[in-house]
Amino acid sequence: MTDLSTIDSAAAAAAPHARRRTFAIISHPDAGKTTLTEKLLYFGGAIQLAGEVRAKAGRRQTSSDWMKIERQRGISVVTSVMTFEYDGHVFNLLDTPGHEDFSEDTYRTLTAVDSAVMVIDAAKGIEARTKKLFEVCRLRDIPIVTFINKVDRETRDPFDLLNEIETTLALDVAPMTWPVGRGREFVGTLDLASNTLRRNQKGDESDAGQKVDGEDDKLFDELLPHGAADTFREEVFLAREGCKPFDLEAFREGHLTPVYFGAALRDYGVRDLIDALGKLAPSPRAQSADKRLIEAGEPKMTGFVFKIQANMDPNHRDRIAFMRVCSGKLSRGMKAKLVRTGKPLPLNAPQFFFARDRSIAEEAFAGDIVGLPNHGTLRIGDTLTEGEDIVFRGVPSFAPEILRRVKLKDAMKAKKLREALQQMAEEGVVQLFLPHDGAPAIVGVVGALQLDVLKERMEAEYSLPVDFEPCQFAIARWISSEDKVALQKFTAAKPSSMADDLDGDPVFMASSQFTLKYDAERAPEISFSDVKDYQ
Ligand code: GDP
Repeated sequence: MTDLSTIDSAAAAAAPHARRRTFAIISHPDAGKTTLTEKLLYFGGAIQLAGEVRAKAGRRQTSSDWMKIERQRGISVVTSVMTFEYDGHVFNLLDTPGHEDFSEDTYRTLTAVDSAVMVIDAAKGIEARTKKLFEVCRLRDIPIVTFINKVDRETRDPFDLLNEIETTLALDVAPMTWPVGRGREFVGTLDLASNTLRRNQKGDESDAGQKVDGEDDKLFDELLPHGAADTFREEVFLAREGCKPFDLEAFREGHLTPVYFGAALRDYGVRDLIDALGKLAPSPRAQSADKRLIEAGEPKMTGFVFKIQANMDPNHRDRIAFMRVCSGKLSRGMKAKLVRTGKPLPLNAPQFFFARDRSIAEEAFAGDIVGLPNHGTLRIGDTLTEGEDIVFRGVPSFAPEILRRVKLKDAMKAKKLREALQQMAEEGVVQLFLPHDGAPAIVGVVGALQLDVLKERMEAEYSLPVDFEPCQFAIARWISSEDKVALQKFTAAKPSSMADDLDGDPVFMASSQFTLKYDAERAPEISFSDVKDYQ
């Protein structure tokens, strides 16, 4: 078992990056992500009153046209970043879009975090979306801290929940706290390693918890009358003896999750969780680039763009690239190099975000997320450095599952349509394919809701009312080959099935899996891929 007292962040605190904890919350809708976010921010002193996140979002939504879709459907389309400090650490919490149609965006957001909190509803256990998001984390070996929420209501048996995590996610579990009572009898959490009982955790310093004499402490007879104390003691005994002990290395490698219980709405377990993030969650991890691994502690600034958001503020028509700083220090006014073009890029107005509010960032360190205003220079997947020619890997694009032609209601505006589609594609809202035979552009999306967002935004931001028409294609695949001549031949032979994507890379479109298979079998030297790694 890892001795938690030896995991000392104080020594590392000298380096600003070592104090950073950049994480996301993954959960199924309704498990309590928003509530927990509010409480974490409240603990970090970032907001005065819990409830402000929601209130703020509401205010913004009413003032912003293209947010209409969010408001109507009660989903969050925009990724926002929330930064707060607690106990010497700087926490960057990246909000992930809530709807499953936005899996591509969510995936990219998860490329920018070092750990994740998985929130589970104690009555429901692992739900579909939690599982999907977890799988994305697993692909990147992102360490997961589990928070079992709503213990103040009727819950499933905790061992049952632990077992479900272990079996459905193939992830070892190590309970770190145990709920003292459940449902209406729930009174707090017991830290299993330190025997600290924490009752209501309002976030003030006075509530550091109370040392108890293990689960046998007489206090539990008072707290849990009518025999509930016996059940509690049995459970804690079983949890201590029967569950895997916490192992920091296994956690950091993504094989084991420490589990915390609580009720975010009533401030229980939140402090246990935030302490765990500070103590256990990793500081910014080394990031892999094409030529070498980039360590967070390296002196030179590097970073990658994982999201573009245009027209966040309709009054300014600006475009913000969200960049994760991977190493070194970003200072306002510095000249970075945009590796894709080789050109210098002055960082005159880097910004920090708080939900949807922003402020100028004078400096930022590895693990921080900064917004870089630009007019289309930056794209998803771009690498910025202080001169070195490296490219970060792993910000992918997925083959669309729906392909449509965009039908313009006013044919006079064809040029404007092309520009608008190009912008939306650069932002990652849709993918854009330009057929080789000169036919009108085709847009591709992973989820149908993306089409609604496109329609809404085209109208609100570009005054272009559009509709979508089915096209003869259902599948798109990026094609490549070592044999350049063969690739050229294949491309030239099928101009009506070929298109270029936004970067000019060749895409083969097929009407069905059957025709794709047919063509692929006849061109063994060509590889067909449904994922494209931005280079
Ligand atoms: P999200 O969809 O994951 O962001 O979930 P919310 O934070 O909006 O919570 C969904 C519902 O569960 C809301 O009505 C919350 O008030 C409620 N809720 C959240 N946390 C708790 C909790 O710890 N206990 C109880 N009883 N209700 C909670």
